[in-house]
Amino acid sequence: MKIDITELMNHRTYRTEFDYRFDLDKTDVKCVGIPEDIHICENGIHVKGNVVDNLGIMTFSADVCAEYETVCARCLDELHRCVNFSFERTVVPGSGHGKAGEKSHINDDGEWDGITDDLLFANDSRIIPDADIVEELSLRLPMFALCSDDCPGLCPKCGKSLKDGPCGCETEDYINPQLAILRKLLENE
Ligand SMILES: [Zn+2]
Ligand SMILES: [Zn+2]
Repeated sequence: MKIDITELMNHRTYRTEFDYRFDLDKTDVKCVGIPEDIHICENGIHVKGNVVDNLGIMTFSADVCAEYETVCARCLDELHRCVNFSFERTVVPGSGHGKAGEKSHINDDGEWDGITDDLLFANDSRIIPDADIVEELSLRLPMFALCSDDCPGLCPKCGKSLKDGPCGCETEDYINPQLAILRKLLENE
């Protein structure tokens, strides 16, 4: 989305509002930081807010709500979730700092370099915030999701979801591979 701030820059107004949704698949925004098992829903990113000129300092503020689909890390049930966050940046008019949104602080391996720009550049009186919003979104998404905190997961033997009750398998001899290592260590003592 291009947000036109010509009126703001010409001091004909001090506030410009916006309210739009965008579809990650239909933008050319690189989404390297989004985990592979998270799918952002079609048209699922809702951005609502304003750009305010306060004595020459322009601030872009938005409430972002992103809908996504993922699976429970324990039982693999499909989940439909939302993440909400507020996004605020100082707007710097004029180019000369490169194209807005071109540079990302998330590398191709999805690692964040620890720097959050708090600036948004306006080129030709237009702000294009979507790449920065997606970058922030990728930092706000959970590492994994659970359908509920006490999800019992799947039976390690038959793979049945234990949410529907016990599956009847004898799981006493089953030892989680990580615990097996621990037990071995204890036995050797
Ligand atoms: Zn679950
Ligand atoms: Zn079972």
